[in-house]
Amino acid sequence: MTDLARYARQIVLPEVGVAGQTALRDSRVLLVGLGGLGCPAARYLAGAGIGTLMLADRDRVERSNLPRQTLYTEADVGRLKVDAAIGHLQRVDASVQLQGLHSAEATLAAMSGADVVLDCTDNFEARFALNAACVKARVPLVSGAAIRWEGQVAIFDLSRSGSCYACLYPDTGERAEACEDAGIIGPVAGVVGAMQALLALQLLLGQSDVAGRLHLWNARRGDWRKLSLVRDIHCPHCSST
Ligand SMILES: [Zn+2]
Repeated sequence: MTDLARYARQIVLPEVGVAGQTALRDSRVLLVGLGGLGCPAARYLAGAGIGTLMLADRDRVERSNLPRQTLYTEADVGRLKVDAAIGHLQRVDASVQLQGLHSAEATLAAMSGADVVLDCTDNFEARFALNAACVKARVPLVSGAAIRWEGQVAIFDLSRSGSCYACLYPDTGERAEACEDAGIIGPVAGVVGAMQALLALQLLLGQSDVAGRLHLWNARRGDWRKLSLVRDIHCPHCSST
């Protein structure tokens, strides 16, 4: 039974309606990485009434997380992010099924049951592993990244856009720049995480035309750029699928 009053502001949108809200309630979303991107993304997805939200992270909350990672407070420092995040989100909407995943094995096992996966991680190793698993399981991947004053978001879905993450970023073995070294201003992570949640909701509502584009944002210049994604026919991740 859908709580119509709770979701009234989005149900009134013609693109959502009761049918769309029911589709969201029937959806299973896997979100990997409960940091600066994952916190706002999880909050908006839980708030939107996603039926099952699976949350994966192995880290604990640190004091340096608090400026950006909006699900945590000082009392959470030292706790596992998964546990702290679930505690927060349960208080947002107790009807959302929340599942915590504490290992890479559990995360990969959850992949095949997901309607969409959000990559909110912060390193290439995790991104390539998630991409390969999504390609194999044929699950759309909403990828986000943020550093300094810049962010980017894209949906990789072989059935819609015809490309995967590795088509755009070949695995050269390089280490990704880390916010730990390069820095980040908190709201940039918030915007990118919110955008990931938005794209995931649009996918779940059947707005498949949102796939196939890379959104690049420069907060200092205040501009968004949109590029079309093209499949690499030699991509080692997806060319054999
Ligand atoms: Zn590819």
